[in-house]
This record gives sequence, C-alpha cells and structure tokens, in this order.
Amino acid sequence: MSAIVEEHPNAVNEKLIEPPAYQPPKRTPKFYANDKANYTILCPQMAPIHFALAKIVFSKNGYDLEVLPEVNRDAIEEGLRYVNNDACYPAIVVVGQLIQALKSGKYDLDRTALLISQTCGGCRSTNYATFLKIAVLKAGFGNIPVVPFNVNLSAEPNAEGIALTSAMSQQLVLSFFVGDLLMRLSNHCRPYEKNAGATEQLVTMWIERAKPVIAEEGKMRDISKLAPGVIADFEALELVGENSRPKVGIVGEILLKYHEGANNHLVKIIEREGGEAVVPDILDFALYCLTSDWHRAVYSQVPMKSYLKSTFLVWLIERHRKKIQKRLEESKRFSAMCGVRHLIAKAETLVSTCNQTGEGWLLAADMVEMMESGVRNIICVQPFGCLPNHIVGKGLVKELRNRYSGANISAIDFDPGTTEVNQLNRIKLMMAVAVRNQQKNKNAD
Ligand code: SF4
Repeated sequence: MSAIVEEHPNAVNEKLIEPPAYQPPKRTPKFYANDKANYTILCPQMAPIHFALAKIVFSKNGYDLEVLPEVNRDAIEEGLRYVNNDACYPAIVVVGQLIQALKSGKYDLDRTALLISQTCGGCRSTNYATFLKIAVLKAGFGNIPVVPFNVNLSAEPNAEGIALTSAMSQQLVLSFFVGDLLMRLSNHCRPYEKNAGATEQLVTMWIERAKPVIAEEGKMRDISKLAPGVIADFEALELVGENSRPKVGIVGEILLKYHEGANNHLVKIIEREGGEAVVPDILDFALYCLTSDWHRAVYSQVPMKSYLKSTFLVWLIERHRKKIQKRLEESKRFSAMCGVRHLIAKAETLVSTCNQTGEGWLLAADMVEMMESGVRNIICVQPFGCLPNHIVGKGLVKELRNRYSGANISAIDFDPGTTEVNQLNRIKLMMAVAVRNQQKNKNAD
C-alpha cells in the first residue's frame, strides 16, 4: 500500500525557481600606455616639491598629468561617501580628492583618467586601486579609467597602465633626488631665515632650474649638474639663530609624513611652536621596497631575476645619490642622508627586517637613526587602525625611551573623525617638552 504524502502549504515548487541571469560585474575601463595622448591623468598630491618635478617627467614621456592641489575637508567628506570608514585614512583622502576633482566640472570626463599608487604588500595599500574603482562606479563615473601606478620596468609600448621605461625611471629618480635635497635643505633653513620667504623663493627657483635638466637628459648622473649649485645657494642663505631650535623628526605612514594637507600642516605647526622639522627622504622608501627581496631571501625563496634586478637598482640609485651625500658631508650647515645598508643595520637593532608591511622596518630605522644623530624629538604620524604602523611605530616607543635618554616621542593618530584641536594639543605638549629639553641642554653646556 503506498503512503499518501501531503504537500506542505508553504512548500516551494523548485521547478518554478530560475537562477537569475548572470550579470557581469561592472568594471571601469582599462588604460593602456597607447591611450596616453587621449587622456588627462589626475594624480592625488603627496609631496609638492617632488610631484612638481615628476610632472615634467610624465609630460616629457607623453602623459598629460595633473597633480591635484591641496586636500580640504570637503575632499575627505567626499572620500567618506564612497569608501567605508573602516578603510585606511590615506585611502579616504586620495579617493575623496579624485572624486571631488571629477565632480568639479573642470575636466572633460571623456578624456580623464585617475592615477593611484599600488603596492603589492600585505596591507590595504594593495587595494587602493580597487577602492578607487568601486568609488568611481558608485559615483556614476563608470567610463573613467583607473590607472594603478606600480614599479613595472616593462618597456612594452602598449602595456596596461603607465609604461615605466628605464629612461622614464631614471628621470623619476633624478626628480626625487632633487625633491629630497630641496626638502631637506629648506626644512633646515626656513625656521631661521633672516628674510621671510627667502627659503621658499630658493626652492621655487631651483624647481624651475631643475625642470629642463630633468626633461632634456634626465639621467641619474645629472644630479651632479644640480646638487652642488643647490647646496651652495642654501649655504649662502642668511640665517639667524641657526640650530637654536629643537629638531623634531616626522616619521610614519608615507602620505601623512609628506602630505601637508593630510597631516594638517605638521611642518608649519612644528615651526610655529619653535622647532625645526626633520623629514626623511622619500627615496629611502623606494630603497626600502627594493631591498625587500634581500630579507625574504633569507627565509623563503625569491626568484633570482627579481633579486638581481632589485639589487642592481639599489646599487645604481645609491651610486648616484652618493654624489649628494658626499657634498652634504662637506657642508657645515646640513646633515647628509645615509645609505640603505646603514638603515637596515639600525632597524635590526629593534625589529626584524621581515617587517615589510606598511612602512615596516624603515619606520624603526628612521627613529633609531634620528635618535643617534641627535634628533631626540619625534612625531610618529599614523592612520588610526593602521596595524603595521602601530606595531613598528607606536609599538617601539617604550623601547626607544628606555634606550635613549631624553627621547620625546609622540604618536599622533589621524582619521576622518579626529579633531584637529586634539592633535594640536598633543603636538603642543610634545613641543613644549622639546623646547624645555633644548633649553636644559643649552644651560648644561
Ligand atoms: S600602511 Fe596602514 S594606512 Fe597604509 S595601507 Fe597599510 S594599513 Fe593602510
């Protein structure tokens, strides 16, 4: 006898359910090097001196690059509209700045592309390009290509993104040699200048003088045509009370370290509060990235080609940077940068060089190097919730205080919700200690 099975009144008739038609995900168009003539590429600001020079390199190579001006509060609000607020603060800043530019009406949206840096590390900087693509689609600019910028020495004429040829790489490194030098010298001179504005005038003059050298030949070796003149001019600048202020190092996350809009004009605040800002060279960050294979090779397998290529590039960059270093070592006024091997050795006294996420071991190296060269005041700028920088930044403060007497270190968090007043109070407190320590040392001499 067969059992009678009654159908439940809520039973679903599976036959009636059809899977939805496949919807391909929306994507922004790709940008190929051959498209360069058809686009204006908008680039978020990071370091004004360096980017003013790098712009020349891009135009020399056929790219119409426009570096966006300062970040303002509206740009950050724009970023928050399209990037989840648990993402990194730098991502919110750069995405906000780019979307704000697209909405400004200043650009022909059929001929505009967006440039964004992309690393391939273990933290969210790898995803910045994706954050931007999602934001661009959400904001209704689906036809705008996003151009991720990473170090790819492919000279393919029609590679996706920017075709970073070896000639273009040399020009970029040369522009960063000059940018780092101008940043280093101007940060030392500005607080003591006898004639207000004289330092900035010199910076502007040398940016203009460097542009044709970078554009015409632009080999790394051409730094010897520029560095002696730059250093001589800054040495001749009239200063009053030189070295009387406490030196205050700025270390931390790369965008916050160099971008005055993102760090709420930290250099100006330090100077206003009676200090002299010391900011590490941007090229140190490039060397930190290039040497990552050296440390990986100790613990895992690294392709020989990649290892040899990065080792050669480090050698080449340092060989030419030594020309600046040597000239600075002869100077009575300025301090010189140090080589990457020296920085690695300094970092190894505190952390493993396998810390390669975010600013990784470089942050530790910068702080040790500053402490040992007499810069006992440090502001460590870090995005709130940035795990790598909290480990190798904030996480080292206690040990540094134990090792170096008079170490005055303040870690300042940045995120869209942090009030400037709060940051300012902490910096003022730190600066008051720095000024008092400087006075004590002077009295003791
Ligand atoms: S270093 Fe920090 S702020 Fe930068 S991408 Fe990584 S997690 Fe974000």
